[in-house]
Amino acid sequence: MEGRRYDRTPIPEDAGFQRAANFGEVLHAYTKEEAIVEAQRCLQCAMPYCVQACPINQDCRGYIGLIAQQRFDDAARLTLQENPLATVLCKTCYHYCEEDCIMGERGVPIAIRHLKRAALEFGRSDLLYVPSAPRHKRVAIIGGGPTGLMAAWELGVRGYSVSVFEAQPFLGGEVETIPRYHLDGDELDTDLARYKNLDVTFLLGKRAGAELTPEKLLQDGYAAVLVAVGASDPKLLGLPGEELPGVFPALPFLLAVNKGPEGLFGRKRRTIVVIGGGDVAFDAARSSRRRSKDGSVTVVYRKTRTEMPAGEEEVTEAVEEGIHFLFERAPVRILGAGHVEGIVVQRTEVGPPDAKGRRPVVPVAGSEETIPCDTVILAVGEKANLEGFPEELDLRITAQGWPQGKGADWMTDVEGVFAAGGKSIVYAMGAGTAAALAIEAYLVKKAGETPPPRPDPFGGPDSPKLPEGYGGPTWQL
Ligand SMILES: Cc1cc2nc3c(=O)[nH]c(=O)nc-3n(C[C@H](O)[C@H](O)[C@H](O)COP(=O)(O)OP(=O)(O)OC[C@H]3O[C@@H](n4cnc5c(N)ncnc54)[C@H](O)[C@@H]3O)c2cc1C
Ligand code: SF4
Ligand code: SF4
Repeated sequence: MEGRRYDRTPIPEDAGFQRAANFGEVLHAYTKEEAIVEAQRCLQCAMPYCVQACPINQDCRGYIGLIAQQRFDDAARLTLQENPLATVLCKTCYHYCEEDCIMGERGVPIAIRHLKRAALEFGRSDLLYVPSAPRHKRVAIIGGGPTGLMAAWELGVRGYSVSVFEAQPFLGGEVETIPRYHLDGDELDTDLARYKNLDVTFLLGKRAGAELTPEKLLQDGYAAVLVAVGASDPKLLGLPGEELPGVFPALPFLLAVNKGPEGLFGRKRRTIVVIGGGDVAFDAARSSRRRSKDGSVTVVYRKTRTEMPAGEEEVTEAVEEGIHFLFERAPVRILGAGHVEGIVVQRTEVGPPDAKGRRPVVPVAGSEETIPCDTVILAVGEKANLEGFPEELDLRITAQGWPQGKGADWMTDVEGVFAAGGKSIVYAMGAGTAAALAIEAYLVKKAGETPPPRPDPFGGPDSPKLPEGYGGPTWQL
């Protein structure tokens, strides 16, 4: 079509040298005009791959179409009616939708995530969710991360009475470790404020386990229990020297950076090595760069750059911020007397295929080298802390570390106890929805009823709609 724009309306961003000096947000909002121009690029596909790719099937085509028509209030309502953590997601989601956006085939995908932010910032987003008629049934959720919060919302709007037991004195789970240059820290409160009228009670500082078991909760009158404890205990490598002062697992490090002005090591000049190549490693590297302005940060990863699991955006921004890299190196031991003084790494290469045809990474003999440093941050994965949980649950632990129910019904071996989690915020929310639906199906079946349709979470009959036959903008702007 004449006038079709394949390039994205640029997202305002601070320069690398500027942003490495502070924790201010890296990406800035579109203006209203920029948002409309970007939304008008959308083709309003009859088969929206973007919606299919989203783990909560957010109607992004819908809110983009409404923005293109300058209907920001409707765009905000449409976004929030199926996405209760939208303020968090509009800055942090790994935007799976954009990977499948058809515009990516010819040019740059629509900025779907950033337009969600425009919908919420320019539209009326201070709305309140409305519960359906009370169902007179209580559900307990263990864990106040995205899985638990989404399940609480799904059940809350359906009229259930929900108690969320959270071990920490705050909600959000791993969301609380996301660096402030991505998320300035108030977004979760903004989202949770909309839960106000739902019958959802948050019990903070309540760790489930030996004394507060899922079975005990069932005995106490809860009709079902969802275990949504995530995988937030850091894994260690078992390297000699790992116990030395100056070695930090990434998660507690990131949490301390967010919660205290000086983080774990203050604003000192440090020589830092980060082990790992995932998004968490990059969060740790970029945060420590900001905490130690005149120091240096090197990411050590055991495979090549192309095999690194971290998102391309993270890697590009880290390079711009002056982070160094050492690829195809594995850590061997950490050196130091009383404090970290260096780390010994070894070259790696791809070895011969194993019985299953996989080619593991193997160390190259005689290739050890020492990197002098005073800080080592380990970002090599996480696991669930299931201390005190009874064995009868026989929880299935996923490869990424969180417990999950066994079959399609998300139930564990104990009747009425479910378990779920996810690899990112929106995947965890998708799992929270699936588990909540499974809980509702279980409860209504037990009562000999049929599950009612999903109510409108704002208590009204209608959601914002585009005009009949609306097939995209007319490219007038
Ligand atoms: C540093 C970091 C950065 C990330 N950045 C992003 C990002 O930018 N975008 C993205 O989409 N995803 C990101 N993720 C991943 C995302 O945060 C997780 O996938 C998501 O939070 C998982 O949600 P969850 O609710 O299943 O688990 P969690 O978030 O881990 O929440 C589980 C909750 O359960 C609580 N809990 C644990 N045990 C108990 C118990 N016994 N009793 C009571 N409560 C308990 C925990 O305290 C926690 O609050 C990041 C993760 C990390 C670690
Ligand atoms: S152009 Fe992209 S964002 Fe728009 S409807 Fe099609 S797939 Fe979705
Ligand atoms: S929640 Fe994430 S994946 Fe879903 S539409 Fe929004 S940005 Fe895309």
